[in-house]
Amino acid sequence: LAKLQAAEPKVQSFISIASKEACLAARDLDNKIALEGPDSLSPLAGVPFGIKDTLCTAGLQTTAAARVLEGYTPSYDATPVAQLKAAGGIILGKCNCDAFAMGSTNESSDYKATRNPWDLERVPGGSSGGSAAAVAAGQCVASLGSDTGGSIRQPAHFCGVVGIKPTYGRISRYGLIAYGSSLDCVGPLAGCVEDAALVLQAIAGRDMLDATSSHMPVPDFTQGLQSIDSFASRPLQGKRIGVISETVGQGVSSGVNEAFSRAARHLESLGAEVHEVSLPTSDAGLPAYYVIAMSEASSNLSRYDGIRYGVRREAANIRETYNSSRGEGLNAEVKRRILMGTYALSAGYYDAYYKRAQQVRTLVQQEMYRALSDFDALVSPAAPTTAYRLGAVKDDPLEMYKGDLMTINVNLAGLPAITVPAGFEESSEGKRLPVGLQIIGKAFGEADIIKTAHVFE
Ligand code: GLN
Repeated sequence: LAKLQAAEPKVQSFISIASKEACLAARDLDNKIALEGPDSLSPLAGVPFGIKDTLCTAGLQTTAAARVLEGYTPSYDATPVAQLKAAGGIILGKCNCDAFAMGSTNESSDYKATRNPWDLERVPGGSSGGSAAAVAAGQCVASLGSDTGGSIRQPAHFCGVVGIKPTYGRISRYGLIAYGSSLDCVGPLAGCVEDAALVLQAIAGRDMLDATSSHMPVPDFTQGLQSIDSFASRPLQGKRIGVISETVGQGVSSGVNEAFSRAARHLESLGAEVHEVSLPTSDAGLPAYYVIAMSEASSNLSRYDGIRYGVRREAANIRETYNSSRGEGLNAEVKRRILMGTYALSAGYYDAYYKRAQQVRTLVQQEMYRALSDFDALVSPAAPTTAYRLGAVKDDPLEMYKGDLMTINVNLAGLPAITVPAGFEESSEGKRLPVGLQIIGKAFGEADIIKTAHVFE
């Protein structure tokens, strides 16, 4: 807690911080040891966590970084949070993000703009920027984020940490504040691949409380992680890895391109067969994603009426109360998405927008599945550039949406992907800015991409 507090004035990763008493109570594992013996302790026992503020935490304010939820304290834990607690994890606090996870910089938070620990004049990425910055700044050992269109992988890339977006359905969404329900995934961020894998282990699996969570058996995600010494044995021998050609070259910064090529060569040097693979419908994924995400958001966010949760601005009648609560409680980016989503879903336009976007989604998914029947994994940079300067894309939503090119198709297809630090780009002021490699796997193939990512450590 002291370390968290010391970094907080500069980095500002947290919206709410747990009390010392609550942390001490969570740390008290004596009872568990007495009852079940010391071997009962999970590797996460006593490990301090940050939790993205889109996940409900019993007794700890949960706002999704939106003003409309200020003062909302859930009576229950989201399932992944309950699982971390059951494993002995200590929840230090709630991490900043873009309001309702809509954004890529944390600048759409209604509370604060988290800074990138590598350069405080830059953003940590988003929307799980607080979760990534908190790990990078050493404020917690690991954190949970949520990823609807890249929100774990892009901040992991900007902040030089590991982030895993699991297969859709691998982790329960119960207690996750909904954005785009057919895309939303909870996942871990951590300082190294093994830590991220251990957290994934604790939170993966079927949950009765989320009908979309999967019955697929959960393997041991840390089994067989190669140690550095075994590099001599070419640990990736026999693996086929596809470089998505649409994600390299044009539109990608030179530093990101260079680090990415070096990473691809590293995979090759360890025995992998690396070839380019073209996914021609890639480009269509971005507009399809934004139509689907905004449509689902417009439906999900209708519950914020000023009556049931958080902020209420009482007015002359119920309609005025709705209007003033929403007017003040929802920011411009959130309103933009509700309006566009409502428009796309309206009767006369449904076929032209939502239905068409779903058709494109199917094409994107089929194309990725086809590529993954030929390759064990696909790789790309996790984002086209390194961390933006504060304010650089804030007032240009289209420019910000374009930054999601590398990550969103993975959500459309429901596949797992990991971002692992793979180099640096030097900024014009001579600062080192991290670059992440994205490794995309087959559905429920997290264990495989975790092993591949581990060769970068
Ligand atoms: N930047 C994307 C968006 O704004 C992704 C956000 C996310 O994954 N939650 O929708």
